[in-house]
Amino acid sequence: MVTSLTLDALQDFVFCPMRYWWRQVAHLQEPETLGQVAQTILREAILEYARIYWMETKPEPAVVHQAIQDNPKAHHLQIMVATLWGYRFIDWKQAELGRLLRQYGRADAEIVVNFVRGGKEYRRPDGSPYEAPRLTKVYQKLAKEAGLLEMKQRIDKAADHLPIKSRKKQSLADTYAQMNGEMVADLVAALPNWKGKVLGVDVPFVTVTNGHELAGRADLLVQVERQPELVFFQYGQRLLPFKAYKNDLRIIAALLSAGERWERGQMSSVRVFNLIGEVRQERIYGPGRKERLEAVVQMAGRTIEAGGYLPRFLRFETYPTCLACPYQLYCIEGGGDILERMDPAGHAALSQQSRRQRE
Ligand code: SF4
Repeated sequence: MVTSLTLDALQDFVFCPMRYWWRQVAHLQEPETLGQVAQTILREAILEYARIYWMETKPEPAVVHQAIQDNPKAHHLQIMVATLWGYRFIDWKQAELGRLLRQYGRADAEIVVNFVRGGKEYRRPDGSPYEAPRLTKVYQKLAKEAGLLEMKQRIDKAADHLPIKSRKKQSLADTYAQMNGEMVADLVAALPNWKGKVLGVDVPFVTVTNGHELAGRADLLVQVERQPELVFFQYGQRLLPFKAYKNDLRIIAALLSAGERWERGQMSSVRVFNLIGEVRQERIYGPGRKERLEAVVQMAGRTIEAGGYLPRFLRFETYPTCLACPYQLYCIEGGGDILERMDPAGHAALSQQSRRQRE
């Protein structure tokens, strides 16, 4: 029997079975966080950029076209990111806050650009550049003079009224300034020249493994030397060791999706772009750790069938993982005991029933 599972669901399960339960069984959407909004905006902008500048087949959205004409010096991707933020704020009925953020972002960029261009006062005593300009005394002084600190306080206070959850230390002003500044600048510098070679955007793919059909999505499908290649952008802020990419279930599944489903031939490679700092372009060849994926799918399938949705925080060593999970608002802050929601008797019955069905 072939069952369907999405890669996102599998990854949820591997991250924490309780998270799988919230999303796939209880169908409770996770509360939207500021970090997620920022990543969504960046992803939408990149995919729109891909449609307009790499595929050349989709019409240009009028609003982006107009913004580009109004800002001929800015990079188009940066304009898209700013436009998408603008839509968000209109949607949240906070257009004024959006304007204040743009003002803050511009003033912040004017200071930060000095650290890029150099100048003695913007360098360490040995002449090397600062890795985090915003944490330096020079930035703090200039920001104070420009009134940025008060503006930041106003922005972050107003952000309390947005329909998104903000974690401690996650400032709306910083997130906006960073995304429109350093992050997009790094990304723009590393964009490849795929003009005319991008075949698809937000591309679905399917892998069948151990009787499970795994469905996932890649950001792009590009043509490389007559063979297709799937591309993922990594929207997080960390550079990972190469091993981490090799073991990523999504990437393994993408490689295995090669074959009859791709009319253009065998998948030659999967490529990952990291958005922050050094952008890595790694092609991952080889069998794609098929056995690893099969083992995980098999184990997850059995545990799901038996209803083994144990939450991460049953061990305090793994508690920090919960801090990176949006469902902590239900699991930890929501009150009540989440174990009460589990139904061992019901799960046992379900398990017996599915066993009978298989026999
Ligand atoms: S908060 Fe922790 S226990 Fe709850 S779903 Fe997330 S990782 Fe699992």
